[in-house]
Amino acid sequence: MTSFAELNALPAEQLANLNELGYLTMTPVQEAALPAILEGKDVRAQAKTGSGKTAAFGLGLLQHIDAKQFNTQSLILCPTRELADQVANELRRLARYLPNIKVLTLCGGVPFSIQRDSLIHAAHIIVATPGRLLDHLKKETVTLDDVKTLVLDEADRMLDMGFFDDINDIISRMPTERQTLLFSATWPNEIAAISRKIQQNPVTIEINSVD
Ligand code: ADP
Ligand code: MG
Repeated sequence: MTSFAELNALPAEQLANLNELGYLTMTPVQEAALPAILEGKDVRAQAKTGSGKTAAFGLGLLQHIDAKQFNTQSLILCPTRELADQVANELRRLARYLPNIKVLTLCGGVPFSIQRDSLIHAAHIIVATPGRLLDHLKKETVTLDDVKTLVLDEADRMLDMGFFDDINDIISRMPTERQTLLFSATWPNEIAAISRKIQQNPVTIEINSVD
């Protein structure tokens, strides 16, 4: 079991925040993924639900955000609104020591016009479901031109739900030079193929549960 301090990469304020959250040691997927993510590498990681994947990518992408720039620097795609809300809430907890960082969710079920109004002030981090985000991109209410980190969370579920045409469309509207992180509870062949298409020399992580 390794502490977050042993990464030698997180600021003291974040280490204090993690202590307050009760995150005393890294989970296996965090220990395996965080060093590569913090170095800016692409990572594809398979680990079961509840293994701490959100903090694995969240702690990495937060370090790469420039709070002084008011543009969207990270995009996290999730299969459902409930999961997007969970990820956004976890990111807000992880970003508590960074008061100026704005996290916004863009999912179906909320009127488009309300979201369009909230997009007048860009969010540093957008957590979205693919369909609604694509609506915003097509209507140019959001731009991904400055995104540095793309996360596909629960990629296997997004595949099952038929989101990959939308995801490809979204990716075609993003900078090609970016960090791409792919997290999935299972690893079907289709996910491996998608990784080959959208990632560059990814570090591969597979955490087999012992229980
Ligand atoms: P996953 O995305 O792999 O299903 P989550 O990111 O939702 O898992 O995390 C599962 C739970 O574990 C959450 O309640 C989260 O707050 C907690 N958690 C994450 N990392 C740690 C840690 N290092 N120490 C203690 N609890 C953690
Ligand atoms: Mg998760």
